[in-house]
Amino acid sequence: MFPASANIIIIGGGVLGASAAFQLAKDGHQDIVLLDRGPLASGTTPFAAGQTAYLSVSPDRLPLTTYCLDFLENFADRTGYPIHFNQHGSLRIALTEAYLPELEAHQVAADQLGHELKFLTPEEAKELVPTLDVPDAKGIIFIARDGYVEPKSIAIGYASAARDLGVTIQTHTKVSNIEVTEGKVKAVHTNRGKIQTNHIVVAAGAWTRQLTQRFGLDMQVVPVRHQAYVTAPLVDVVPRQPIVRLIEPQIYVRPEAGGLLVGGYGYRPVSFDMDEFPNRFEISALEPDLIYYSRLHDAATTYFPALRQATVVHERRGLPTITPDAKYLVSKVTEIKGLIIAAGCQVGGIQSSPAIGRMVADLISGQDYFGLLSAFAADRFESVYSDAQLRDQCETVYGNLYLQPH
Ligand SMILES: Cc1cc2nc3c(=O)[nH]c(=O)nc-3n(C[C@H](O)[C@H](O)[C@H](O)COP(=O)(O)OP(=O)(O)OC[C@H]3O[C@@H](n4cnc5c(N)ncnc54)[C@H](O)[C@@H]3O)c2cc1C
Repeated sequence: MFPASANIIIIGGGVLGASAAFQLAKDGHQDIVLLDRGPLASGTTPFAAGQTAYLSVSPDRLPLTTYCLDFLENFADRTGYPIHFNQHGSLRIALTEAYLPELEAHQVAADQLGHELKFLTPEEAKELVPTLDVPDAKGIIFIARDGYVEPKSIAIGYASAARDLGVTIQTHTKVSNIEVTEGKVKAVHTNRGKIQTNHIVVAAGAWTRQLTQRFGLDMQVVPVRHQAYVTAPLVDVVPRQPIVRLIEPQIYVRPEAGGLLVGGYGYRPVSFDMDEFPNRFEISALEPDLIYYSRLHDAATTYFPALRQATVVHERRGLPTITPDAKYLVSKVTEIKGLIIAAGCQVGGIQSSPAIGRMVADLISGQDYFGLLSAFAADRFESVYSDAQLRDQCETVYGNLYLQPH
């Protein structure tokens, strides 16, 4: 039966909304409804590469990133649902000396945590990843505890655990508007009826800004197309090889079904206004940007020559959300009591989902587990961007994601 009321409504059953539902239920909140316009995890989530990169050069971020690492390493214990975390490590490669300080900062972070990190020679890196060719790399680190997951399994795991804790899940339920009375949320309006509520969490991924514009807000978060591709099996790909991250060309490569999954940033950042799409648009219908794919492929071939002969068997793309300062947007909204936004994944929503869900729960439970909520608050932006400036700035952020200190 469709609920007439709920204490908390979460809009969006992607990895962020599902994590928030789980964490809220785990905190003991009751009467929670998770809504999605499609099936669960039908937005950008299923198209992700699912990779983690937990070592941060900012010491204040380490509690958050290590919380996520620990959660993913122990996902079945936390949620009751198993996932496969392919934890074969990552190589982070500086091709120029300019990025050596970043690698050294990672070493400091690893030492601080007591985690394994090794500097490798190009030859040692090639032993781990036989298809990699970076003889002139200036620095290569191996981070043992990075890895990748199947992204949809994470979202479904959270949602299943949330349901076990009493959360009601309503799919094929599209929110058209939010009712606000005297500055406080009152109800959501959907294609299946109205639900009265006290709290609304907007975790609508690419649609977050569009949805909040419906009720007069302009959240500083923009969807930007991100693309990757997967090749047919290649002879020298080792299933347990680490992820490779090349800093300057902003490319990542990991094994996938015997072939290579290749993605990258800066090859042609394009943001979107979701009103440009038809009402029934789905992420799976997102058009490819062939120029982006071709530039990415040419660049990746320089470091993975085997890609030259490879057949592309699968393309992945979606609309992750970017903010003008490359930080998450996990926040209450001053103008509307009871409203919370969870967006701005910076193409890292799978790996950061445990912490983002935790912070959403903190906003309702009145805690600040990581002490970072002010850094991710909606009112942190001093500049008020025009629409064009906002999109331009978010495209720039996206186009330089690997070039910023991580
Ligand atoms: C090619 C690619 C590679 C990536 N690689 C990685 C990676 O290696 N590691 C990583 O951590 N991240 C990666 N990402 C990013 C990751 O996919 C995102 O950060 C994450 O999926 C965002 O999740 P979300 O819940 O915010 O959005 P979504 O998954 O899009 O979920 C939002 C949900 O809201 C629903 N919704 C929207 N509007 C409404 C409405 N009005 N009513 C009801 N429901 C609504 C949608 O149907 C959707 O299911 C990658 C992304 C891409 C595209």
